[in-house]
Amino acid sequence: MEHENLKYSINSHIVCNECIKELSTLSSSDINLKNFVKFEVGFTSLGIQIWCIRHSINVCHIDFDGNQLSADFRCLEFDKSN
Ligand SMILES: [Zn+2]
Repeated sequence: MEHENLKYSINSHIVCNECIKELSTLSSSDINLKNFVKFEVGFTSLGIQIWCIRHSINVCHIDFDGNQLSADFRCLEFDKSN
């Protein structure tokens, strides 16, 4: 299918261990990991870093090891009139 790579494709989440710990202490069932986590994502001199805003800690820092990887920054816009 066309632009399949631009659709939601996450099959394994990257999580902040501190957020997981904190979330497990909360009793509200209205809060889940998806709406609890606050991440900042950006390029660094090494590659891409995922930063937990809630805890001010590194979640994941992907080192491109000097390689230039292909990336797609386009987004699909859906017709909202239907
Ligand atoms: Zn966190």
